[in-house]
Amino acid sequence: MIALLPKSRLESLLTRLSDRFEIIAPVSIEGETCFVSWSGQPLALTENPLIPPTEFLLPNREVLFKYIQESGRYTFEQPTAKPRLIFGVRPCDLRAIFVLDRIFRADPPDHQYLERRKLAFLVALNCLQPAEQCFCSSLDSGPEASEGFGLLFTELEDGFLVEAVSPEGISILKDNSDLFLKAEDEHEAEKRKLMKTAREMKRPERTQERIKEAIKNADWEALGRHCLSCGGCTFVCPVCHCFNIQDLGVPDGERLRCRDTCLLSGFTRMAGGNPRRTQGERMHNWYMDKFFFIPENTGLLGCVGCGRCSKVCFAGKDRWTLEARK
Ligand code: SF4
Ligand code: SF4
Repeated sequence: MIALLPKSRLESLLTRLSDRFEIIAPVSIEGETCFVSWSGQPLALTENPLIPPTEFLLPNREVLFKYIQESGRYTFEQPTAKPRLIFGVRPCDLRAIFVLDRIFRADPPDHQYLERRKLAFLVALNCLQPAEQCFCSSLDSGPEASEGFGLLFTELEDGFLVEAVSPEGISILKDNSDLFLKAEDEHEAEKRKLMKTAREMKRPERTQERIKEAIKNADWEALGRHCLSCGGCTFVCPVCHCFNIQDLGVPDGERLRCRDTCLLSGFTRMAGGNPRRTQGERMHNWYMDKFFFIPENTGLLGCVGCGRCSKVCFAGKDRWTLEARK
């Protein structure tokens, strides 16, 4: 099912849907685009937020459960997930969510992630102007979404072309039909033209074959000397998902899950320290994970070409040439 939503009616649609869902949408905060819990703020749809929407499926910090001790016996309280509509998920981030789904569905399944995922209705937004550092088209993860969404939006001159394939997406279009107009053939033709232009925009060509070759040949110790071990590249990555578990409080307290990263020297520390002793070894592992280990386990690459890691890295303008600075 396909329809046209005039731009001036987008906020009315989201306001109506906020009766059923917590709406997560991109807005501008002090000049930076961020996904937030939306309650009518002006939407910011021109750039993909630096912190990916996966933050709402795997938060940086979450309480897994509370433990309460009474007369020597423990009882446990688990937080409940709520239905969320995540608006403006770019195709690269949609692919990242498929990767996380496969990782967290594998045995043993991660119930907290899967519960949030089950309750998340994803509204994708096609990318018409991929950012300079994006290389989704080389990895076939953008700029156009083809599956996995409840609704797909493409911004045209006259409004948003809205496509629904899932039963829930179709019912949203039907239940709010007073807000939508009929999509004409010319609107679909405009979308095809815009997507063709987006695909053909000059962006870094980074095929997985090239990246794998660069991983084999890189001088990891030289690259590691420039890395500041800040972990920024992993905390903005929509696919990175490592975490640490801590119990806070005795005898009552909370079990916390906090994001962690293999680029930090304290990661998986054992009695003898981190088995990957140098920053070069840790960086090597990060790239191997994305292009070899995650694909072996999930059938999908562990990188979707969103370019966020290059955007935040202090150590170099581009994470993907894998050439050490002189
Ligand atoms: S590794 Fe970098 S480019 Fe690839 S998905 Fe993560 S942040 Fe995006
Ligand atoms: S963002 Fe750059 S400097 Fe920071 S850990 Fe990643 S590679 Fe190192």
